[in-house]
Amino acid sequence: MTARIIDGKQVAEALRARIAAQVATLAYKPGLRVVRVGEDPASVVYVRNKDRAAAACGFDSATQVLPEATTEAELLRVVRALNDDPAVDGILVQFPLPGQIRQEAVINAIDPAKDIDGLHPLNAGRLASGAPGLVPCTPQGVMHLLAAAGTSVQGARAVVIGRSVLVGRPVAQLLLAADATVTMAHSRTRDLAAECRRAEIVIAAVGRAELVRGDWIAEGATVIDVGINRGADGKLVGDVAFAEALPRAGAITPVPGGVGPMTIACLLENTLKAALARRG
Ligand code: NAD
Repeated sequence: MTARIIDGKQVAEALRARIAAQVATLAYKPGLRVVRVGEDPASVVYVRNKDRAAAACGFDSATQVLPEATTEAELLRVVRALNDDPAVDGILVQFPLPGQIRQEAVINAIDPAKDIDGLHPLNAGRLASGAPGLVPCTPQGVMHLLAAAGTSVQGARAVVIGRSVLVGRPVAQLLLAADATVTMAHSRTRDLAAECRRAEIVIAAVGRAELVRGDWIAEGATVIDVGINRGADGKLVGDVAFAEALPRAGAITPVPGGVGPMTIACLLENTLKAALARRG
């Protein structure tokens, strides 16, 4: 068997097209504001891509750039002004932040109704208790990819490798909400290979190049690789040894071109969701 490759670019494009079509029916443009502090080169690229994608989908999108030396109090003032601005539906503060600013203080300051990253404790709590709310983008992207792959989640044995607040935990909660039987594996898991071999769905969100070997994958399993790592040759590789997994898996995401493209599309999805919830 050779796995079907799940094309994240195509799935993201289709999602963006659905969002654009829905935005076109609204009497207003959903407002997205991105705040970037400093000139971290990767953040400059991410933010530019977010802005472009938002504009292409018909959003009212703008980026506020603050100097590297911005204090926490100054950034919190900016966030509160965006909270109070009725034209703003979604607020995204790009991480990482300079060392003088506590990430947690910023997350807590964002109005949960505009928290399109889904990281505010209220939204995290809603997700944990199975209530509707704004869900972190990359985990939501993982669920879209499973749907696009035609993978039946209900009742399936799923292993999530990685327990970060940003990816692993919310992915596990979304899978649980979709009625999977979920195992969360992490750096202290005793026999990761055995946990994977039992799984019909493997989600790898670790950040270690090719940690998951081909013979850990059960025949026909769906594999979603969230990891982004630089291989020895400088090329991007995932957390899964792709070439080894390909003959065993039923469906698999490539790196790049799998989960990556979904994140921005899901950010726009959240902004639209926030706009519809706020404005009716
Ligand atoms: P993180 O460092 O916060 O968490 C990594 C998790 O992996 C931890 O919970 C840890 O327990 C677990 N882990 C570490 N070593 C392990 C091991 N040997 N065996 C099993 N588990 C182990 O990272 P993160 O923010 O969750 O990101 C994970 C990966 O996903 C990174 O490569 C990151 O670049 C990527 N990522 C991709 C996107 C995207 O858009 N595609 C978005 C976010 C993160």
